[in-house]
Amino acid sequence: MSTPVIGVLALQGDVREHLVALAEADALARPVRRAEELAEVDALVIPGGESTTMSKLALLFGVMDPLRERVAAGMPVYGTCAGMIMLADKILDGREDQESVGGIDMTVRRNAFGRQNESFESGIAFKGLDDAPVHGVFIRAPWVEAVGAGVEVLAELPGADGPESRIVAVRQGNLLATSFHPELTGDHRVHAYFVKMVEEHLAAE
Ligand code: GLN
Repeated sequence: MSTPVIGVLALQGDVREHLVALAEADALARPVRRAEELAEVDALVIPGGESTTMSKLALLFGVMDPLRERVAAGMPVYGTCAGMIMLADKILDGREDQESVGGIDMTVRRNAFGRQNESFESGIAFKGLDDAPVHGVFIRAPWVEAVGAGVEVLAELPGADGPESRIVAVRQGNLLATSFHPELTGDHRVHAYFVKMVEEHLAAE
């Protein structure tokens, strides 16, 4: 089987860290800015950054609609933090004109963890990566407030201000999203999990 080619949406955000993490997870990684570049990759990572800016630039660069088309056609996509927001069908506390690519039947709240918890780190039990907790780095992170029936919850975090759990990782079909940033930790198991999703998708085509 040939090595999957995975793009990183390079409009804004922590692109370089994802390129490194994907390479370490044995994928061929390259930045994607334009529709022609998107057409050449098997899968895509949408990085962390600022989802309102990313949304604006995606519209400006003409990649929003091509992206939506690839997602609808089944391309695997992994979104971290701002990238998770980009994959959400519904955004709370977004900017009024903010658009998402969508694809995951979930409602995501931006900057959800509140002031004291704007940035924090936590060990997270991640379904499917059972050997050790994943080290979660959260930076003004969103949480997932609601999911549809087709969405699998992969990780939850105890609530910042109460016993309520918050969903911080999900998968729906070929789409994967985490509130946190595995690309910043040197632990590339979540990227490897995504690369495996891509390989399975390509094998089934
Ligand atoms: N708060 C950012 C947003 O709304 C996300 C932060 C991040 O990606 N680290 O897009």
